[in-house]
Amino acid sequence: MYFASDNSGPVLPEVMTALADANTGYAMPYGADPIMEQVRARVREIFEAPEAAVYLVSTGTAANSLALATLVPPYGTVFCSPVAHIHEDECNAPEFYSGGAKLTLVPGGDRMTPDSLRATIAKEETRGVHGPVRGPVSITQVTERGGVYSLDELSALTAVAKDFGLPVHLDGARFANALVALGCTPAEMTWKLGVDAVSFGGTKNGCMGVEAVVFFDPARAQEFELRRKRGAHLFSKHRYLSAQMAGYLTGNVWLDAARRANAACTRLADGLRAAGAGFLHEPQANMIFATFPRAAHRRLHEAGARYYLWDGTLDGADDEAVGCRLVCDWSATEANIDRFLELVRG
Ligand SMILES: *Cc1c(COP(=O)(O)O)cnc(C)c1O
Repeated sequence: MYFASDNSGPVLPEVMTALADANTGYAMPYGADPIMEQVRARVREIFEAPEAAVYLVSTGTAANSLALATLVPPYGTVFCSPVAHIHEDECNAPEFYSGGAKLTLVPGGDRMTPDSLRATIAKEETRGVHGPVRGPVSITQVTERGGVYSLDELSALTAVAKDFGLPVHLDGARFANALVALGCTPAEMTWKLGVDAVSFGGTKNGCMGVEAVVFFDPARAQEFELRRKRGAHLFSKHRYLSAQMAGYLTGNVWLDAARRANAACTRLADGLRAAGAGFLHEPQANMIFATFPRAAHRRLHEAGARYYLWDGTLDGADDEAVGCRLVCDWSATEANIDRFLELVRG
C-alpha cells in the first residue's frame, strides 16, 4: 500500500527490456546514439511537430530549470503558481540555472486564472532598469494538487502570455496522466495552444530516470544544448537515457501506464468518498488530497501503508480529520487499494 508518490513504484517492464536490449556493443556517446535518433523521431511524431528540438535529461528539476533558463534572461522573471514545483520543490534550481532570474508568483492556488496572471504580469516591468523584465509563463499540468487544466483553461492562460509577447513553458512531469484524463492529443495540449517548451515527464509514469525537453521552435535548440552541458546534465553514456524513453514511447506503453495510474486513483477516490472522506482538491488524474479521521491513518500506518500526511500528524484525537496526499502509479493494484479502503473504514 504505497501511495507516497508515483516515483516510488517500479520501472515499466517495457522500459527495462529496452534498457537490456540497448546493453550490447557500442554506441556513440552524448546523445549521438542511434536510439536517440529514434526517440527524436518518435517524440516529433507524437507531438505532430516535425521540427521540434528534443533532448533528454535525468530529472524533472533539470528539465524545468534548463528549459526555463533557455527562455528567460538572468534579469527576467518567470510567472508561476505559488505552489509550482519550480518554486517549492527545486531548491532554487531555476534561478540558479538561469543565472539569477526570479520567479513571480501568481496569487491563487495550484491553478492560475487568466485574470490573476494578467494582473501579475502587468505589475512587472514597470520600474525601468530597477525591476525584472517579464519572462516565460510556466504552467504545471497535472497541477501540484492533482488538477487538470482543460484545453480552454490552458488556452486562456497562453492567450494572456501571448498578449504580452511571452513564451509559455509546460511542466509536464505528469504529462501522460493529464493527456489521458483530457482524452486529447499531445499537440492539442501544447503547441496548438501556444505552448513553446515542454518538460515531458517519464520517471513518474514508469521510467527509471528520464525526462524529455521539447522545444517547438528549433531556434532554441543550440542554446539549450550548451546550457545542458554547462549544467552537467549531458549524459556521457546517453544511450541508457535514450533506451528508457524509447521503451516508454513504444506503441501505447506510456498512455496505458497513465491510464492504469488514473484508473487506480479513481478507484481509490471513489472508495474514500463512499467511506465519508473529504477532499481538499478534486482528484482529476492520479493524485488525491483527502481528509479522514486520525484513527484511520493510525490503522493504515500500523498496517504498513505509506503516504504523506498533508496537515497534521498521527498524534492527537482519534476522530479529528487529518489530510493526506495519495498518489497512484501505473503499478498500483486493485487488491492493495481495496485493502487500504478496508483499513480506512475500520
Ligand atoms: C516530480 C515533479 C517534477 C520533477 O522532479 P524531480 O524530482 O526533479 O524529477 C517536476 N514537476 C512536478 C510538478 C513534479 O511533480
